[in-house]
Amino acid sequence: MHVNQRSASPEACRVCGNTSDNSGFDAREMMMGTREVFRYVECGGCGSLQIAEIPADLARHYGHGYYSFGRPFRSSLPKRLAKHLVASVLMRPDSLPARALERFTGVPAPLHWLRTAGLGRDARILDVGSGAGETLVSLAGYGFRSLTGVDPFLPESHEPVRGVRVLKAGLEDVQESFDLVMFHHSFEHLVDPLEALRAAQARLRPGGTVLIRMPVVGASWHRYGADWVELDAPRHLHVLSRAGLEILADRAGLAVRRVEYDTTGFELWGSEQYRRDIPLTDPRSHLDGDGDVFTEGEMRAFEATARELNRTGGAGRAIFWLGSTLKRVNACAT
Ligand SMILES: [Zn+2]
Repeated sequence: MHVNQRSASPEACRVCGNTSDNSGFDAREMMMGTREVFRYVECGGCGSLQIAEIPADLARHYGHGYYSFGRPFRSSLPKRLAKHLVASVLMRPDSLPARALERFTGVPAPLHWLRTAGLGRDARILDVGSGAGETLVSLAGYGFRSLTGVDPFLPESHEPVRGVRVLKAGLEDVQESFDLVMFHHSFEHLVDPLEALRAAQARLRPGGTVLIRMPVVGASWHRYGADWVELDAPRHLHVLSRAGLEILADRAGLAVRRVEYDTTGFELWGSEQYRRDIPLTDPRSHLDGDGDVFTEGEMRAFEATARELNRTGGAGRAIFWLGSTLKRVNACAT
């Protein structure tokens, strides 16, 4: 049994460069359940986790159907009108109607992310690793008008709805600049996260924001080790600590302005399943909501634990808002 065996690893951390007290451990592919073993390293300096060697054949580990590249779902006209109306009110956060509506409906997550970045609906938005553009289509429903996605693994570029273009391209191919460059659970898949942050920074308009939603080293890593579901070996190449992200951001001319935690019970029940050798796509798994590994009570307890981890900052998923620290005029501003 290789799992959870640890040993000293001399290689430098790719995040902070630290070479002392780095420890290696083995993690298994458990989403599809091949149980293939991959070496990871926990940095003794910044606490980030990283795959020891980037696999040469990464595409093999994504398999068919990993990405949802079908046409993104579009809601009916009445629903779209309602969304539009809700956004009209909520995007003026200090107004009386917004505060009243918030009390009844809460703030839908995408509006919260953008409102917190101080953006209006005319903001120019880029989604890196957008897949078919589901997040962008949702934002279009709220009335955002300038929405671009890039994903090099798309079969082809397309325009799912008016105002949304999704390009078969990488961040480095984009020549324009944006008020918001966002990564929704794509950052941990990148071979070179520092290069991506630099590319994002270079494409920010003055006052712009980089938004990153990603797994982050927290309490569940310490509890579950190699069985922590957010490791997702070998697809998650770098799972950063908050300190690790701050180091990379600084080197890219960015600084973390705000952090919120947004994990769910998934982090707990997924890790518990891995500990019991049950892959995410196993018929017994709770992935599609019909698993039988845990009782309803246990599933509710996992959600309660997740809420507590979000509240105390120990959660394994976070949202980071970053701003530029560089004064120079961006070369590619349009
Ligand atoms: Zn490090």
